Amino acid sequence: NASLAEYDPEVAEAVAAELARQQGTLEMIASENFTPVSVLQAQGSVLTNKYAEGYPGRRYYGGCEHVDVVERLAIERIKSLFGAGFANVQPHSGAQANAAAMFALLQPGDTILGLDLAHGGHLTHGMRINFSGKLYNVVPYHVSDTDGRVDMAEVERLAQEHRPKLIVAGWSAYPRQLDFAEFRRIADSVEAYLMVDMAHFAGLVAAGLHPSPVPHAHVTTTTTHKTLGGPRGGVILSNDADIAKKINSAVFPGQQGGPLEHVIAAKAVAFKHAASPEFADRQRRTLEGSKILADRLSQPDVAAAGVKVLTGGTDVHLVLVDLVNSELDGKQAEDVLHQIGITVNRNAVPNDPRPPMVTSGLRIGTPALATRGFGEVDFAEVADIIAEALKPGAALDELRARVEVLAAKHPLYPTLSS
Ligand code: PLP
Repeated sequence: NASLAEYDPEVAEAVAAELARQQGTLEMIASENFTPVSVLQAQGSVLTNKYAEGYPGRRYYGGCEHVDVVERLAIERIKSLFGAGFANVQPHSGAQANAAAMFALLQPGDTILGLDLAHGGHLTHGMRINFSGKLYNVVPYHVSDTDGRVDMAEVERLAQEHRPKLIVAGWSAYPRQLDFAEFRRIADSVEAYLMVDMAHFAGLVAAGLHPSPVPHAHVTTTTTHKTLGGPRGGVILSNDADIAKKINSAVFPGQQGGPLEHVIAAKAVAFKHAASPEFADRQRRTLEGSKILADRLSQPDVAAAGVKVLTGGTDVHLVLVDLVNSELDGKQAEDVLHQIGITVNRNAVPNDPRPPMVTSGLRIGTPALATRGFGEVDFAEVADIIAEALKPGAALDELRARVEVLAAKHPLYPTLSS
């Protein structure tokens, strides 16, 4: 039983290098975060050895008494966090949570409405070569050309015209809040189910800083690793007892075999963190940071470089930057920020003239930096660094040095060594 470093130095070195990368750069990918050490420990535990097909108290394997404790804790904690009557914590990922929720509610060939991928939707909301696009008849809705916000009049028109069985509300790249009550009204008017995928903004909801979809949706899905700050994974919530039964059987045996009880343990720990005042403060700083960033990138000196903030601001943890009129395309802007130690992802803007591997936009998020301890002053500095970097002829060496100062000011995982 040699240690990882002794037995497999190649993997150990890559893990250490990744820790050093996370410590030395500023992570601004909107879907990423840093889990607490307690979450890392739960996930890296002997629970990975255990088979536990079934649900607590109803397993198909012996020896599940301890993983039952863990899974029950995860279920009860997330139910209480979001005020839900039912939770399934077994989906291995957000995509699998969505697949299982759709499997529970739909038959192949049924019609679904989802936000177009190119307008901020997720692959699992109906993208052509995703399972959702292959199994279901997808009718995409869009953001409006005028204000960049989801066009609810179009959602209603498409719902009336196509009578979908399911409407999916949720997004991967959208800087505003959705009107869940209005989505439910439209769903009810055509007897459709409403599924809200809150993967991106679940942490804000948990902290009471974003309206909750849970009272409005028939089913709410989420990832556990974005703003929620836990291990990579998925969860499905509902307040409808009949739907809850269908979801349990859709996850297991419908879509998955043995649950990842080590990840479920890590989810339980993360949900405990998410109920704490420190977590709420972190989400507050997350929002503060994205507003500071949107404000800085809207200033005339940045606008003069062809940089535009989509929808003119943000209500959530991310800012979408439109570079259609900039000298930099999305890929080049991502590379420039990478060179100075800031990690973001390029992102298509609505009606993007460039191909998906290039794009004309950036998605910049603040959750990971807020977890690192960033506050108002630090976010103002990082916003200024990004603003300068996106201008032609930016002094990248100087900007890189400013990034290093910020990274050193907020040490990440000081108890783990690289
Ligand atoms: N749903 C939304 C809205 C997402 O943004 C994502 C991931 O980016 C997912 C689901 C899928 O999550 P995962 O990558 O865990 O499958």
